[in-house]
Amino acid sequence: MKTVAEVFSDSGALSELIEGYQHRPEQQDMAEKILSAVNQGQSLVCEAGTGTGKTMAYLVPALLSRQKVIVSTGTRHLQDQLYQKDLPLVLEALASPATTMVLKGRSNYLCLQRLDAAINDSKGLSYQNMSDLQEVVQWSSSTKTGDINELGMIEDNSVIRPTITSTTENCLGQSCPEFDACFVFKNRKKALESDLVITNHHMLMADMGLRESGFGEVLPLADIIIFDEAHQIPELASTYFSKSMGTRQLLELISDIKTAIREEAKDIQGLIEASAKFEKTIRDVRLVFGRRDQRLNWKETWEKTNLSTELPKLLEAYQVVLDILETTSERGKLLDNCWQRAKAHYNYIDSYMETKNEDSIRWLEIRGNHIYLNKTPVNIAETFQQRLKEYDATSIFTSASLAINNSFDHFNRQLGLEECLTEVWSSPFNYQTQTCLYLPVDLPEPNQPTFFDAFIDRTIKLLSHSEGHAFVLFTSHAALNKAAKALSEAIDYPIFIQGRAPRSELLSQFRQTKHAVLLGTSSFWEGVDVKGEALSLVIIDKLPFASPDDPVLQARLNYFSKQGGNAFMDYQVPQAAIALKQGIGRLIRDVNDRGVCVICDKRIVSKAYGKRLINALPAMPITHDIEDVYNFFH
Ligand code: SF4
Repeated sequence: MKTVAEVFSDSGALSELIEGYQHRPEQQDMAEKILSAVNQGQSLVCEAGTGTGKTMAYLVPALLSRQKVIVSTGTRHLQDQLYQKDLPLVLEALASPATTMVLKGRSNYLCLQRLDAAINDSKGLSYQNMSDLQEVVQWSSSTKTGDINELGMIEDNSVIRPTITSTTENCLGQSCPEFDACFVFKNRKKALESDLVITNHHMLMADMGLRESGFGEVLPLADIIIFDEAHQIPELASTYFSKSMGTRQLLELISDIKTAIREEAKDIQGLIEASAKFEKTIRDVRLVFGRRDQRLNWKETWEKTNLSTELPKLLEAYQVVLDILETTSERGKLLDNCWQRAKAHYNYIDSYMETKNEDSIRWLEIRGNHIYLNKTPVNIAETFQQRLKEYDATSIFTSASLAINNSFDHFNRQLGLEECLTEVWSSPFNYQTQTCLYLPVDLPEPNQPTFFDAFIDRTIKLLSHSEGHAFVLFTSHAALNKAAKALSEAIDYPIFIQGRAPRSELLSQFRQTKHAVLLGTSSFWEGVDVKGEALSLVIIDKLPFASPDDPVLQARLNYFSKQGGNAFMDYQVPQAAIALKQGIGRLIRDVNDRGVCVICDKRIVSKAYGKRLINALPAMPITHDIEDVYNFFH
């Protein structure tokens, strides 16, 4: 096997495979530190600035170690990129015999059993959905992986997607007639046998939960787990360690009960009537709340709304359905599956209303046509550590934004990482010459009524200096929509607005269109890579503090204060610093990129905490004068 230096040096193995390869000392050092950590069995938390080349810097030592490896990254798209682009190069450079596999969540794989049911049930489908379904049928006989993304045309929110994929709830498992040919289980089996598996954080978190509960596993028991885009882990872990049940699951249950009656017990009239009554109570619960999506504190909502009247009515109607299912479940697999699910959901709601557990935050989410009853742990560190221990692996956490002023305290505290090595590699880009940070101090504070108009005026001026080529990033959808209207009327540059087309399509249009301006919220603050002149200006409207009204954040801040911490300085400011680093990180993606970052929230200069935020960013020249922005571009 080669050494790290033999792989990364100027004339090393990678240089023979990559055209225009340039040796990056930070990249080689990162690979060496990871290999050393892995050899010592010491976990490592490390930040690698944009342009370090961290993917290869962890893949090379991972494969050189000859141990079993899980690489977990942020999205399916990144998984595919790693598997199709970076991994083959590294395997070739090392002449490695390792077996590798990419594994996604079950909603990415065709469910043959449900496809059959979808074909039988296809009468009411629109022309478009019918033709999509026909394409799926054709493709299903030739695909080797069953990965629906191979087809391209089935979007995540497509109507037919849930009808041809499975969930943990509706999968029939070993009693499924298609079990031997099942893509979900075939892919999982292959992953368990592979030396290196590329997965995503959602899968890994789900696997952690499965292992702890003793219900099996999906991923192999690895010696090394690499968490790429690790800044996402605390938030995702919080979501995955939460429990949630909502009207969506209840309505799906009713729909499956109807199918079960049709297939297995056409004569049970009582169940049809009870389900209809139950369905009405579900809709009545949803009607307690308006149309707006929101996150609400459970206790306050229970005390102040009709939920306390409607939810008990729902349980009453639910009990009738449950009683009938209990006596009929033996008549078929589908009915039995419905009964098992119905029991679990009922118990969840019942205990949710009663619980006094202070370690978990009860909160309601109103999203679209549904309402969800959620329970989220106040502190995720202990659960994360317990679940991670199940793997007995060396963990590597890496991202371009984990540290605040070279300290990992905030990240490590959230995940309970106590005895880890830490390292920071700065970006090899020259921020002193490639960029400039414009902080206007003459704008009103964001909570002032005059802020919006002043922000729009300044944005128009900045866009004229850069001739478009810009991202304008917002901290809320409301601000995005308001600005979209104002800017569309005021500028002639082509505007792309989040929500008007799928994210990937917007990005591809932005890249191809000269002088384009893209307006986006959180999903454009990270994971977006636009090189060259196309993106020369990034404008941020406000400092990305999470909404103080959020019930989960409120509970966490209270908890933090009770522990004696300064909730604002030690929790909210570091969170904002990491988000800001991500947002600003969109601008410079290459040694030849040039551009200006703008933060229109004057608190970054006027408040004491502002210094911490500025210091967390790559060091770059700062100006308060818009003339300097003009000069930068001319
Ligand atoms: S085992 Fe589950 S996922 Fe596989 S085909 Fe059957 S129902 Fe679908």
